[in-house]
Amino acid sequence: MKIIMLGAPGAGKGTQAKKIAEKYQVPHISTGDIFRANIKNGTELGKKAKTFMDQGLLVPDELVVDLVVDRVAQDDCENGYVLDGFPRTIPQAESLDAALAKVGQKVDYAIDVDVPDENIVNRMSGRRACVGCGATYHIKYNPPKTEDVCDICGEKLILRDDDKPETVLKRLTVYHDQTQPLIDYYTKSGVLKQVDGTVDMEDVFQAIVKILGA
Ligand code: AMP
Repeated sequence: MKIIMLGAPGAGKGTQAKKIAEKYQVPHISTGDIFRANIKNGTELGKKAKTFMDQGLLVPDELVVDLVVDRVAQDDCENGYVLDGFPRTIPQAESLDAALAKVGQKVDYAIDVDVPDENIVNRMSGRRACVGCGATYHIKYNPPKTEDVCDICGEKLILRDDDKPETVLKRLTVYHDQTQPLIDYYTKSGVLKQVDGTVDMEDVFQAIVKILGA
């Protein structure tokens, strides 16, 4: 089961991707998480990615495509995976399709978690991320058990630089320009499924389970 998550930043696709990975026992591959881990570890890739991420811009395709193509070729991806945050441009989608076609595979589902722009900025300002393990929360929709403390590792929760309102607006513009065309792309290839992302997170997940099968 090879699944791609689509949706604006803050639509909740990361949360849903984690739930899918858990239920269907496939790896959750988040390019944002991979970049953040690289930034934390001070790698060359991290340093390059950070300059784009802090401005709300996409990291250039050449820094992300090989990384994902290599990752999905690993053994734990044999039965599928859920890609969260990739592809984000048409060239990325084409590169993924080409890499999969070489081994006789294809994307099975592209799930678009649909949330209107008006809701996004509000949601993002309530988002909190763990400085330790990267887990994400929302102060209203998905709060941690103790305020500002990660349930998983106990580290501090912060508002990520790229979730600050001015950066969110930039990310939304980038999303509409560069990522939204993927909805057409995957509609044409017949794998697009849309779910309403404005409802409760459990209900969004149930809609996804209906699509993927229990
Ligand atoms: P995310 O956690 O998925 O919202 O990603 C955070 C940031 O990482 C994005 O705003 C981009 O700057 C960068 N990023 C993540 N995935 C990609 C990708 N597939 N292509 C380009 N940039 C990406």
